[in-house]
Order: sequence, then structure tokens, then C-alpha cells
Amino acid sequence: MLSVEEAIQKILDEVNILETESVPILESLGQVLAEDIVAAINVPPLDNSGMDGYAVRAQDTRGAGPTSPKVLRVIDTVIAGSISHRKVEAGTAIRIMTGAPLPHGADAVVQFENTDEEKRKSPVTEIGILAEARPELNIRKAGEDTARGTVALKKGAVIRPAEIGLMASLGYTHVKAVRRPLVAILSTGNELVELGQPLPEGKIYDSNLYSIASLVKRYGCIPKILGIARDDEKSLVTKLKQAQDADMLLTTGGVSMGDYDMVKDILSKNGKMVFWQVRVKPGKPLAFGKIKGKNRDIPHVGLPGNAVSCMVSFELFVRPALLKMMGKKNINKPVVEAIVEDSVKNDAGRRLYNRAIVARRDGHYYARLTGPQGSGILKSMTLANGLVLIPEEKKTVQKGETVQALMLDWNEEVNLIDKD
Ligand code: AMP
Ligand code: MG
Repeated sequence: MLSVEEAIQKILDEVNILETESVPILESLGQVLAEDIVAAINVPPLDNSGMDGYAVRAQDTRGAGPTSPKVLRVIDTVIAGSISHRKVEAGTAIRIMTGAPLPHGADAVVQFENTDEEKRKSPVTEIGILAEARPELNIRKAGEDTARGTVALKKGAVIRPAEIGLMASLGYTHVKAVRRPLVAILSTGNELVELGQPLPEGKIYDSNLYSIASLVKRYGCIPKILGIARDDEKSLVTKLKQAQDADMLLTTGGVSMGDYDMVKDILSKNGKMVFWQVRVKPGKPLAFGKIKGKNRDIPHVGLPGNAVSCMVSFELFVRPALLKMMGKKNINKPVVEAIVEDSVKNDAGRRLYNRAIVARRDGHYYARLTGPQGSGILKSMTLANGLVLIPEEKKTVQKGETVQALMLDWNEEVNLIDKD
């Protein structure tokens, strides 16, 4: 049976970065840049004011102080978006607003607070400067953000809101990015009922489809919902045909030892099975292989059916593969060292990933288990923001010991609850 790391590596070995596409910048959030972004213009385009105040010649303010104002003649006002056609000459100033281009002749801006403007009547014809200004004071230089001709963003960068803003500031409407994987999702099981249908005795609603499709979306990929396949070869094979155009196929259920667990058999018949079973809990029955698509083989992860197992397996094994396909370099979830607040037993001889609430207090991370860890107890996932890792060779971890905790969500997003 493979270790978690071996299984991840085998999956990564079978997937490659996808092709590029041109997308409107707003749609590229979370994708990876497939080209260098070169600035065709200076940002900002002109020297401009960083403050509301008066554009002056710095030398005209020499000796200015609260009790020794230097009085200058005000010859114009310039607001952001306009240009003053007047020139600041000795003894003059132009009233200027933040972002307005610096008028000719001026080399500094004195902010309102350092003038006696509040004592003057509007429109101001003369202004007392109450502080010395050095040249370049409160001036934003043309190109100081991004200079024309320079590489503003490098190919391979992940596109975040800041990158989108920067591209917009340079006038880019579209960007070349690695395309998002299309991920086909299929639930298997005779017991499953689609949402919106009544629930007959002995049946359960199909929840995996929804948790997995949400994970697919969260990581920036496109889910293709195939629905539910029954536990028979015909139903499964028919459904699998709809996965032909996908970049990856995810199934849930049908990979354990039961009589009707046929996903792995179909996988062997219709493609190549790379491995089955990993030394991990939850998630042992994971299957991975490739099924035959139209022109190419499609990587297929057979996720376990249990609601928690399939989510945890997705985070551990599917997420890195999808991120690699998207061209991302940083494909690991963040891990922190945390002090466990409950003792944990490991009778499985496999690595445990126990659901926990990880929170920082007094300079340390602490991990509190969410309660019963059964691999079908989906509620435990809603209570957790992390997974505590218990090594396979450890029989017990005592309260107070330090363990690794894989962060599923930072506190910003988790529904921290008060237990006790
Ligand atoms: P299996 O691996 O198919 O034996 O499924 C293991 C367990 O997970 C069984 O209790 C199933 O009923 C449950 N299960 C399988 N698929 C789903 C699903 N799509 N939604 C909710 N539970 C499921
Ligand atoms: Mg099943």
C-alpha cells in the first residue's frame, strides 16, 4: 500500500500543465499568467501630486515656518484629470488636488495643513506657506509604479486581485493565462438520490457531488456534473462517456471491498489502473488510473464514498494535481505546528488526518479535535478548519504534544464554535 506522498507523486506524474487561453482580466482571477506583462505606458503617466495642497518651487519656501509664512501668489487651480497651462514662476503657486499632474515650473507640493488657507477667503489669491518644502516633496514621479518597457508581471505568476488591478492600470483588457481544468464529477451508488427528489426508505441524498464540485470551484476549476451512476457496469460506462472532454474525472464511491464496488474494475477494463489504496485514514480505498478519452487518456481519481473520506482525499490527492495542471508552483496546503489539546489514538497503522479546530493563542497554534471522527460524519468537516496529522508509526499522541496541522481554512473563513 502506498504512502500519502507516494500516492501524490504517482498522480502528479500523470498530469501536465494545460494549454493557455486569452481571457478578460476579471475572469483570470486565480489563473496563472502565461505571458510576461510588459508596460506599454508609464504608471502614473505624468509627475503628479500625492496631496491636496499648493504646487510650488521648493526654493520659494526657504525660511517658511508657522510664524514666518512665505506668501505666494495663487495663479491657477488644477484638479485630477486636468492639466494647468500656467507655469509656476518665482513667487507663485498653483492650488492642486491629489492625482493632478504637476504644473510646469513646480517641483514640490505643500499640503493644505502647512498653509494658512483656512484663514483666507475663497477664491484664494494669495497663500501663506508655513513649512519649508524640499524638492520632490509630495510628488509621485511618472513611472514610479511601473515604468514603460519594464516587465510588470512575470509569466508564471498567480493572478490575484492586485495583479488584475495592475494589468488594468496598464490598460490590459485580456490576458493570456493557463486555462482552468474541466473536472467531470460522478457519484456512484444505488442508494443515492438526487436533490429535489423525495427520499425513499433506505436511500440517502447525494452529498458528495456537491462537496466535491464546491472544492473544484474553490480551487479555480470548472465542475462538469455527471450526476449519479448506479452500481452496474452499464450505468457506469454510459455515464463515463460524458467525461470524454474533461481534463480529469472524479468519481465517488465504489472503490472499497463491497460486492458492488465496481469503479475500480471498470477502471481496469476501460483504462489503466495506476494504484488502489493508500496508507491513510480517512481515505484508504482511493483508486487512481487513466480512462480512455476520445483522443487522450483522462486521469481518473476514484474517491472513496464516505463523505469525509472523499473530501479529505480531494484535498490531499486531487488538489495538488489540479493546481499543477493550472500551472501553479505552490501546490501544498499550508501546514503549521500545533499543540494538540486532546490525546489521539492511532490503531489503524495508517496516517490519520483528524478534523480539528486550529487556533492561535499566546504565540502558539492549538488544535482541538471536533469530536467523533467517523469517515461518514460530514458535520465534523463543517466544524473544522484543519486536519491534524498523526503519523502512522505512532500509536498515541498525548495531549500537549506538537503535531502538524494541515490548514483547510484560516480563521477568516471558518465557523469557529464554542465547544464545552
Ligand atoms: P462506497 O465506497 O460506495 O461503499 O460508499 C461508502 C459509503 O459512502 C456508503 O455508506 C455510501 O452510502 C456513502 N456514499 C457513497 N457515495 C455517496 C454520496 N455521493 N453522497 C453521500 N454518501 C455517499
Ligand atoms: Mg457505493
